[in-house]
Formats: sequence, C-alpha cells, structure tokens
Amino acid sequence: MNSRTGTLCATRDLILTGQVKVLEVVQACLERIRQTEPAIGALVNIQEEKALERAREMDEHGPDKDKSLWGIPLTLKDIICTSDLPTTCGSKMLENFTPCYDATLTRRLREAGAVILGKANLDEFAMGSSTENSALKQTRNPWDLSRVPGGSSGGSAASIAAGQSLGSVGTDTGGSIRQPASFCGVVGMKPTYGRVSRYGVVAFGSSLDQAGPMAANTADCAAILKVISGHDPMDSTSADVPVPDYLSSLGHRKDLKGLRVGLPAQYWEGELEPEVDRVCRNALEQVSLAGAETVPVDLPHAPHAVAAYYIIAMAEASSNLARFDGIRYGYRDEEARELMDMYCKTRSRAFGEEVQRRIMIGNYVLSAGYYDAYFKKAAQVRRLIHLDFVQAFENCDLICSPVVPFPAFRLGEKVDDPLQMYLLDIFTASLNLAGMAGITIPAGLGDQSGMPVGIQFMGPAFSEELLLQTAHVLENYLPPLPSPRALNE
Ligand code: GLN
Repeated sequence: MNSRTGTLCATRDLILTGQVKVLEVVQACLERIRQTEPAIGALVNIQEEKALERAREMDEHGPDKDKSLWGIPLTLKDIICTSDLPTTCGSKMLENFTPCYDATLTRRLREAGAVILGKANLDEFAMGSSTENSALKQTRNPWDLSRVPGGSSGGSAASIAAGQSLGSVGTDTGGSIRQPASFCGVVGMKPTYGRVSRYGVVAFGSSLDQAGPMAANTADCAAILKVISGHDPMDSTSADVPVPDYLSSLGHRKDLKGLRVGLPAQYWEGELEPEVDRVCRNALEQVSLAGAETVPVDLPHAPHAVAAYYIIAMAEASSNLARFDGIRYGYRDEEARELMDMYCKTRSRAFGEEVQRRIMIGNYVLSAGYYDAYFKKAAQVRRLIHLDFVQAFENCDLICSPVVPFPAFRLGEKVDDPLQMYLLDIFTASLNLAGMAGITIPAGLGDQSGMPVGIQFMGPAFSEELLLQTAHVLENYLPPLPSPRALNE
C-alpha cells in the first residue's frame, strides 16, 4: 500500500473489498509523514496513536459499506475544531487550545469512517497567501522546497501533494483552498456559501468563509464534499438545499458537449506570467476539445474585487477576533496587573503582525467617521460583483479563469510586502464576495519554473455537481502531473 500513488476512491474500494486493511493504509500514511514531514512541515499536530487505534478497531469491526469514507486517512486545516486534538489556527493565541467539541464537518467525517491523522498548518487565522504567517512552523512546497505551498490552506495542499494523506478539508475566504491547491498541484473546491456548515470552523470573515475539500483528484474531492455538505441547525447560514451524490454523478458526463464556458476578458487579458498564460491557454484548448463552447463574458467590477474583499474581510476579522482576549480562550499574559493592560499585552503578544494589521484596519474601516467611505462602499461594490456574476451566468454555465497570475514563489519573497501578497487573490476573491462555487484542478507544469499551475472554474450557487463533472472530464484531457520533484528519492 503506497499512500503516495493511492487515491482516496481507489483505496476505499480496496478496503471495502477486503484487499487491504485500514491499519495498512493508516500505517502507510504515517510512514510517509515520517519520511516527508521534516522537509515540508505540513502538519502542526499528528495523531499517530489514536489513528492506529482507530484503524485497529475498524479492522476488527470489518468494512462498513454504508460509510463512504471508511478507513480513509485525512487531515484537517487547523482552523477546524477537533475535540481530541488542539486547534491552533496557526497562532500563539491558541497554541495549547483544544476545543471541547468537534466542528460539524469533523463529526460528519468521523461518522463516515474517516480517520483524522492530524491538523494541517495554515497562515495565522487563515490570513495570508503563503502559509508564512503561521506562528508555529514553516511549510514548504513539495515541488520545490525553496518555495511556498501557497495559503492559507498551505499545509493541507502540501500534505496531499506529498502523499501524507488521501485528502484534507481547507477553508477559503478569498482563495485559500484554490490558491494553495494550484501551487501544489492538487484539486481544491470552494463550495457555495452555506453548502458546508461553519459550525466549529473558527471564523475569519464570516460572510466569506467556506470549508471545502482538497485531494489528489476530482473524484476524491467529490467523495469528501458529499460527506461534509448539507444543512446544519447549528449554523444559521447553512443552506437547506439537498446534497447530490457528487461522486456517482461524476459518471453522468463523458464530455463537455453543450456546456458554455465564459471567459471574462478581465481575467484573461491582465498581467499573467507567460508560463502561466501558456499552461492556462492550453487548458482552454482542452476545454474546447472536450466539446465545450467558449463565450466571452464581462465582469466589469472584477478589478475592484481585491479592494472590496480586504475591507470586508478585515472588518469581519476585527470583530470575530475580539473574542480572543485572554479571558475565554488560549493565551493569557500573566504579567499584567490590571484588566486593560492584560487585554493589550495578551493581544499584542499572541497575535502575529498580519493579524494585528488586519484588526487595526478592520476597526478603522468600521469606525464612525470612515464607515461610509470604506465598509459601506465595499459592501456596495460586493453587490455589484455579485450582479456581474449573475449576469454572466445568463450567457454561460461556468466561468473559466487562471487561479493565480504566477506559480508558487520563493519563501520570503513577498512576506514583507503585504500589498503584493493581497494582489495574489485577484482571480479568486470575487467568487467569495459573490458567495458562489469554484474549483481548481492542475493544468500542467510551468515551462520555466517547473511548478504546477492550476485552472479555475466558477459556477453559480449550488453548481458543485456541474463543476465537479466538468473538472472530472477535463482531468482526462490535461497532462497528468508527475510526483513532486523535491520528494523523489
Ligand atoms: N489570501 C487571502 C487573505 O489573506 C485569502 C485568505 C483565505 O481565503 N483564508 O485574506
């Protein structure tokens, strides 16, 4: 059993037909973690003993065909609550915090038979695009150890690319599933806002956050999405919309005939690095070869997405993070002698620089004197961006675009330039503002950097089924990626 080449669905079939034991699968992943973790640093907490124990119990019980993830080892981005493992959010603030409950999606994964191997590194409170904002450790890209894995779900993406687990769940507020998936050569989906319960997912930008699957291929993402989706009375923003069987419906589409794929000029005529441009345009040719019709669409407000996103995300973050005050959760500064001093010391010592920057800007844009100029304006722009998408989807079924203008960059290259870092979200953030769904799949390797480059499809609310089917068809047209260079023995 090789956890590096095995996919989730194939492994599940082997387990259910008794050809392989859960214990073997879990051991293979743990072995792979031992081999690769010193180089890539994808995980912040590993649950070796409990995972082995659970595997033994499952083998004793025997395969349960009704549990769709029976024996499948997964990791979770460490912003998703787990009652048996710390949930650090990549922050000193929560370094030693273990929640007293599981997130709804954690519970659903466990109930479906998944084995949680550990928690994946991330930018502190999911704020960032490279995982360099983690206060706990540095994660490296398995394709080139001098480069970032992307972020903020960089640990999840790197872990899958390195074959440490068969899938992960990340979160995407402005691109944090799709961007690291693209940088590490894996598949990542941001579901429609409300598709997956946010209960137990530590809030960053509550009106934007969505958890979603990341895995080596589309079918594996479909299998995970099916389990974590669906209405949850514990999350008032979760949608009461039936959940299709994403995995079995993949087979319903053999090609892309009849599909209209919109190409927004704003996304294709901008500043794309030449190798990214080449990979993405080749992917577009495959879209046409697979039978789809491409049509031009207009997203006139797209250029304002990053500005609107950062105002809204920071405003919501400043409010959400107010709860970390040294009283209720995690770190408390013990030196302070009175309450206000304790709040200040706790928050200035336990939050990293980027988180503090966002809390300050977030409070600023919400303050009485500036609310109209910034937050209200951003909320109006958000509405226009939403309407752009609604109008575009009158002329096409899905929209296709690059994910990031360039491939994974080097560690340290952008970390001192927050504005450069923010601009990475140029092709991803508008989807979160619109509340709709998107997926990224690997489209090939850049001919200069040799790094993976992804291609993105975006669809209307609750179009996950069509997005997954489309990505699944395209996987057969696009060049399969080799295994990540930097980890080849
Ligand atoms: N890069 C974006 C940010 O820093 C998106 C992060 C995310 O999606 N969690 O806010």
